[in-house]
Amino acid sequence: MTQPRLRLNDGRMIPQIGLGIWQVPAATTAATVAAALGLGYRLVDGAAIYGNEAGLGQGLRHSGLPRDEVFVTTKVWNDDQGHDATLRAVEASLGRLQLDHVDLCLIHWPVPARKLYIDSWRALIRLRDEGRVRSIGVSNFTGEHLERLVDATGVVPVLNQVELNPRLQQTALRALHDRMGIVTQSWTPLGQGKSFAAPPVQEAAKRTGKSPAQVILRWHIQLGASVIPRSTRTEGLAENLTLFDFALTEGEMSALATLDTGERCGPDPLTFA
Ligand code: NAD
Repeated sequence: MTQPRLRLNDGRMIPQIGLGIWQVPAATTAATVAAALGLGYRLVDGAAIYGNEAGLGQGLRHSGLPRDEVFVTTKVWNDDQGHDATLRAVEASLGRLQLDHVDLCLIHWPVPARKLYIDSWRALIRLRDEGRVRSIGVSNFTGEHLERLVDATGVVPVLNQVELNPRLQQTALRALHDRMGIVTQSWTPLGQGKSFAAPPVQEAAKRTGKSPAQVILRWHIQLGASVIPRSTRTEGLAENLTLFDFALTEGEMSALATLDTGERCGPDPLTFA
């Protein structure tokens, strides 16, 4: 199945929908990843800190798909920030994945108190130039962090993966991404189900015959974001991929926009270390 793709500012393409594997147990990650790839997923969002990179690599091999058909993301954890530590961390990730490159590597959190994210970014630029990482981006960066990175290095991240769901719509940050040519990627896209019962979600679900989760994931798609929901159940994986046989109306998108409360499910990037 062909997934819609988004163009990155380095000319590469990323599937708009992918599988997130945070909290997927290491012992079952290979099976989950292989099942997802069998259903048509072509993007897997991993990270060193998730402790399941080996399973991600195994799942990819078990799927039998050619390496270049699957987009693999990993992330550099906070303790590995700094130039040389980042170089070592990415090599360690590639070793666990048993891959010779990843498609995308992100700085997982800015950790502004450590003042190392620019050094980490220089290491990612080097790894990209050496071909160990095809594209480089960031996660949980605010507008200020993004601007510092670009001022210091001239290299614009291809993507910023941030918490984004109906209660935390990141409107200003998304507009900045658009101006800078950065793809927005949504983590915890379902917002822990806290908006499933909200009338705008329920009404759109009723009209389209889709589930609340599908309505919310479709909302991400129509915002132009890449989205990486996590499920370990086959039915959930399939449900979260079935987003392209319906569309939300402008009225439904506007009604969903009213659900923004600014409340986070996860940590605040300014303080998380
Ligand atoms: P999610 O929004 O994908 O929700 C996952 C939860 O929703 C699970 O409990 C799952 O069982 C349930 N769910 C999945 N599909 C459903 C459906 N169709 N109907 C009802 N319930 C459903 O949350 P997440 O895992 O926190 O985020 C997705 C991915 O984002 C992660 O797996 C990870 O890859 C990434 N992530 C990144 C960061 C970061 O700092 N960069 C932080 C958190 C998550």
